[in-house]
Amino acid sequence: MNPAREAFLGALHDDGVSDPRVLDAMARIPRDRFVEPHFEARAYDNLPLPIDCDQTISQPSVVGLMTQELDVGRGMKVLEVGAGSGYQTAILATLARRVYALERHGALVGKARARLDALGLSNVVLEHGDGSEGWPRHAPFDRILVAAAAEDPPRPLLDQLRVGGVMILPVGEEGTLQQLIKVTRGVDGYTYDELSSVRFVPLLHGFG
Ligand code: SAH
Repeated sequence: MNPAREAFLGALHDDGVSDPRVLDAMARIPRDRFVEPHFEARAYDNLPLPIDCDQTISQPSVVGLMTQELDVGRGMKVLEVGAGSGYQTAILATLARRVYALERHGALVGKARARLDALGLSNVVLEHGDGSEGWPRHAPFDRILVAAAAEDPPRPLLDQLRVGGVMILPVGEEGTLQQLIKVTRGVDGYTYDELSSVRFVPLLHGFG
């Protein structure tokens, strides 16, 4: 492995990503293919970077921590809202049975799909759509990961989580510090745990 990628895994570990399955997935997926050519030299820095449509590819340690908290098993069906560059989608696809991913900017969808296809990740269904409504046709989901902040967990996403399922999402207003939360659906309702402070782009309604 080249020194930049070795340092990358070290930085993830230092930031609390300790699940070997997550570290292994992040070692295998080449982040340099998911950033714009102009930023390729920085692909293995632990930083968010600008992508098209005024969005960002998330910080790698945040991707790692969210994936770790999600605790994705081999047989699971996962919904991802806000696929952006497709990087988090690729990590999820190496861990899950199938990933259903939605992104509201059509220009991002085309690029992300080409990158996922080039890596041979055939267990991803990525479409242009408003993920705040979830994806009723494929529900219920074992796991849901949301990469954009809503003020509260969207009702359709809560409804589409399987009993026993887990959803990780940032909540809070744009420009303020948001909280990353973990929602677990039990037989009698939902439990909410706060994980950490984060900063994400807002979850918007409709298409971009
Ligand atoms: N994990 C992605 C993060 C992209 S940023 C990556 O690392 O590349 C979050 C993305 O959420 C943006 O691309 C934004 O367009 C998208 N988004 C915001 N609201 C959305 C919605 N309602 N439905 C689908 N995608 C949404």
